[in-house]
Amino acid sequence: MVTPDHLEHGPHACIICAIAMNEHPLAEMAASSDKEYGAQAAYRVLYDGQCEICQACVSWLKTLDRENRTTCLPISANVLPAVDSRLKMDDCLRQLHVVTPEDEVHVGWDAVTCLARLFPSTWLIGVVGQRFPFRNVGQLIYGFVATNRYSLSKCRGGACRAAKPEAVRRQVGLSAFWSCYTLGFFIRLPLVLWAGIRAGAQRTSVFARTYHKRLDLLNGKLTILFLNGLLPNTVPLLFGELFTAVLYDGIAIDPGSPKMRRSLARHVRRLKPKIKKIVATHAHEEHVGNLNWLSDLTGAPVHVSGMTAQFLMPFKKLPWVRAAIIGQPPNLKQPFQVLRETLAGDSGGLQVIATPGHCDDHIVLYDPKEKVLLAGDAFMGSYFATPNPDVDSRKWLVSLERLMELDIEILVEGHGHIHTLRADIPDFPGVVIRQDPKAAISQKLDYLRWLREQIEAGFQDQLPVRVIEASCFPWGKRTSWESCATDECIRLLSLGHFSRTELVRSFVRMDGDQLPTVYEVRLSGGE
Ligand SMILES: [Zn+2]
Repeated sequence: MVTPDHLEHGPHACIICAIAMNEHPLAEMAASSDKEYGAQAAYRVLYDGQCEICQACVSWLKTLDRENRTTCLPISANVLPAVDSRLKMDDCLRQLHVVTPEDEVHVGWDAVTCLARLFPSTWLIGVVGQRFPFRNVGQLIYGFVATNRYSLSKCRGGACRAAKPEAVRRQVGLSAFWSCYTLGFFIRLPLVLWAGIRAGAQRTSVFARTYHKRLDLLNGKLTILFLNGLLPNTVPLLFGELFTAVLYDGIAIDPGSPKMRRSLARHVRRLKPKIKKIVATHAHEEHVGNLNWLSDLTGAPVHVSGMTAQFLMPFKKLPWVRAAIIGQPPNLKQPFQVLRETLAGDSGGLQVIATPGHCDDHIVLYDPKEKVLLAGDAFMGSYFATPNPDVDSRKWLVSLERLMELDIEILVEGHGHIHTLRADIPDFPGVVIRQDPKAAISQKLDYLRWLREQIEAGFQDQLPVRVIEASCFPWGKRTSWESCATDECIRLLSLGHFSRTELVRSFVRMDGDQLPTVYEVRLSGGE
């Protein structure tokens, strides 16, 4: 399933995470002088990165601030003197501080109204809030929340490691964790719902524009066939994952599932493509259901990796939800050929590269001449957050590192997204993403490395798995709440088969698919 990867990667709220991700102005901040920072024509907002309430307010601020007039900075010993020498740590932890471009410092309720006046939708609140008696009432309410926010929102039960997890765990149990995490969630709920609705509208629009369509690229060398089917259609509509078959240089790649067969047949009838070979990148049901069928129709031989062949003979029984929606593929029939290191296309050789991670048998095809990578599911957006139990994220990291060594100008995903900056690939909003493929892969690598760190540290601190999962999706991180509605919908509809929990699990998978004992116990509710 795909988490939209074109989402803006908002700055991080939690200090620890920010350092780990090295994406926050913090690092730049420490290096930059007071003068440099003062020169920025932005309102600098200093907030407590450990506090769920502060993080929630920052999410709102980022939503309102479309013109980037504010810079949100989690408080730390390095940041304060770099922003303004008058700022004191204790004061800043107690109340919101805003430093204007003119270097005025606003504190508490006055800082809130100062920010409110920046945006049309909140301008009136900002102006009225400065007048008697609203200013006094505002200051009173602000004072109450500011003094009580620590007891309202401690530290996610130790998910934030800055606050001495041992001490926090002693004082707060899981109930405190849930109250904090839930509180953060409810303050953000309108944003979560709005993001969910917007993403749904976007998915519907892309679905409608690709319905039974095909995309001819590179003078016919590359063709994307969008595949549909009554029940399979629910997947692009609900989750944004399009179903495709890719034709490249006489090779048909991943020709869909049995429930998309009519759609594939219609494409073949219309296009009459000269298919010389049929390849599957891996043995997932939406990629392998028509291998023999297409081979019988076109006379082209089927090529799969040795491991994929093993998985397809016989094909394991799918969980019933996946079988009902995508369709149970038939077993692979002889004859077929086992893929070697290269595969000849009409105009040149393709490299076959093993890329385990999404699943153990995954391979990608690479055309060094055209600099095209046919990635299958080896790259599913930079922020793929709801994997299935086949995913091994540690192997995936190694595979992506291997792909980073290639010279790639066009990256074709198995689920309908193309990443490229090349001008000979025309615009197709929602399908063609104008992004350097290597930058996209590197972004995914950064994300997986950060997750690995979070999860390793979480296990080291012996945090409960649910807390580790929460620390991988801190509400202060934009992608966490923007994809929350979709991710939870996927969890629900797949009966937990695809979920954020699986993402954590994908990092602790041992060889032989055994989870560490302690982990299994916790998953089943024990402690
Ligand atoms: Zn797959």
